[in-house]
Amino acid sequence: MRVFTTIKQVQRFLRKAREQRNSIGLVPTMGALHEGHLALVEKSLKENHVTVCSVFVNPIQFNNAQDLKAYPRSLRSDLSKLRKWGCQVVFAPSEIEMYPEKERISSISFGEVEKILEGEFRPGHFAGVATVVSKLFNIVNPDKAYFGLKDLQQCFVIDQLVKEFSFPVKLRFIKTVREKSGLAVSSRNKRLTFEEREAAISIYKALKTAGKIMIESGSIARGRTAAKKIIEDNNLLNLEYFEVINPESFKKISRITKEKEIAICTAVYAGNVRLIDNLMVKLS
Ligand code: AMP
Repeated sequence: MRVFTTIKQVQRFLRKAREQRNSIGLVPTMGALHEGHLALVEKSLKENHVTVCSVFVNPIQFNNAQDLKAYPRSLRSDLSKLRKWGCQVVFAPSEIEMYPEKERISSISFGEVEKILEGEFRPGHFAGVATVVSKLFNIVNPDKAYFGLKDLQQCFVIDQLVKEFSFPVKLRFIKTVREKSGLAVSSRNKRLTFEEREAAISIYKALKTAGKIMIESGSIARGRTAAKKIIEDNNLLNLEYFEVINPESFKKISRITKEKEIAICTAVYAGNVRLIDNLMVKLS
């Protein structure tokens, strides 16, 4: 496995790989790797000759300095996992390598989608994500790039980004990996106490309950009420949002009309750890 920390080095290596007609898959991550990341890496390994996993905690996508500081960092153990998984290339740049200029001179905006859910509660988050992903696309020039559906709105935004700027990359979205309990695997789970982790299991329970009620009754309101109760009944959990969207348009919906599929999205604090999850529900 080759590990690069500078843009020049990784580009030189990938130029050669491309000259030898190797296809390149990119898996962008912020490290603290887990089974969710593994699913992305595995898919890329299957579909490409060379898989590049980037490990970079992107400061400009955090709107909260405390959250950035508390974000788990574990490059040594990440590298040993990636080696074990069979990843060929790691790109782990420093902050100064990615952002040599202190000031940002561009900011990508996404219109309406940026004003709801993650966009509403994390102002500037998607502009930061779009910047780092654009940079990684330019640096690595991958044939395919892999993202997790756990971050459903991020997948939508990156799809828009690729279309807007005609990045020559195929996007692959990978289904959420969960623990046996249903809890979505996340780097942030590492920060949960035992009790908070137990409580966090209710997030998926709430999504499932809401989905079932919405299918049976056709009522979003009823599903939401039941789900909110599950979360709010647990005093270690604090609900930030619980919304239903049309995954095609990423617009909020309050009534099911012609939708064939809906996505139920939520953000919940377990103690002071912010967790997000979603469930896609087929209606017919
Ligand atoms: P992160 O390191 O949290 O920025 O995540 C890097 C990539 O892994 C993103 O595309 C995430 O959506 C994806 N990811 C994170 N958790 C999971 C999971 N439980 N299942 C599938 N993909 C995930």
